[in-house]
Amino acid sequence: MPEGPSIVILREETARFVGQPVREVSGNSRLDQSRLLGQTVRSMRSYGKQFLIEFDAFSLRVHFLLFGSYRIDELKESGTPRLSLVFPNGALHLYACSVQYLDQPLEVLYDWRTDVMSDIWDPALARKKLRARPNLLACDALLDQELFAGSGNIIKNEVLFRIRVHPLSTVGALPPAKLRELVQQVRVYSFQFLEWKKAFELKKHWLAHTRSTCPRCHIPLVRAHLGRSDRRSFFCERCQKRYGAVPDSQSQSPEE
Ligand SMILES: [Zn+2]
Repeated sequence: MPEGPSIVILREETARFVGQPVREVSGNSRLDQSRLLGQTVRSMRSYGKQFLIEFDAFSLRVHFLLFGSYRIDELKESGTPRLSLVFPNGALHLYACSVQYLDQPLEVLYDWRTDVMSDIWDPALARKKLRARPNLLACDALLDQELFAGSGNIIKNEVLFRIRVHPLSTVGALPPAKLRELVQQVRVYSFQFLEWKKAFELKKHWLAHTRSTCPRCHIPLVRAHLGRSDRRSFFCERCQKRYGAVPDSQSQSPEE
């Protein structure tokens, strides 16, 4: 599933379609495709993992789910696009994604302060929301789109490794400085993700995600599906500290 920085890349790649009218529409989507014909793109926007194509009276929301992808100006070798939009200066083909019309203005539907890639990202708001949910596990917090729109499994694993926090830590048990660091590093890593992805070297920089050995301790990393989200976590039992009570146990862990 593309994470926020990948949607920013898509937004940048499709910027040349802004101001262009839709000349042809096709694809296997059951949307009323005729609605798009002749509409002029007013903006290409990203919100977290969602890609938004804004027209005058409505918008098209694209969510790439688990296996979605896109091509610009060329078709994939196999498969039918969910939706193809042809403009005078090129074409956008969307595959295996969810597409939906939004009739309300985007500013009403979305709060960009929650989008980790946004110019108006608000770290204080994120900390406030985290403090309101003290029992939330760190591994779930970093996937929660209400807290960190755009953060996904890669960002989760890399940020927790960087800040040396065990994925099963509870948010409420993190010292204030560690909570601040967590929020800060989601933003910092997301922009590094963007730069590295553009340079085709994202994976080269992974320290924990999909790795087998801790680069700090030189011992095997643990892989497990953790938390309510049940997504793959990669972490080091030695250098990533577990803050807070152990959920599986009746007893409380010692106060740190
Ligand atoms: Zn380690």
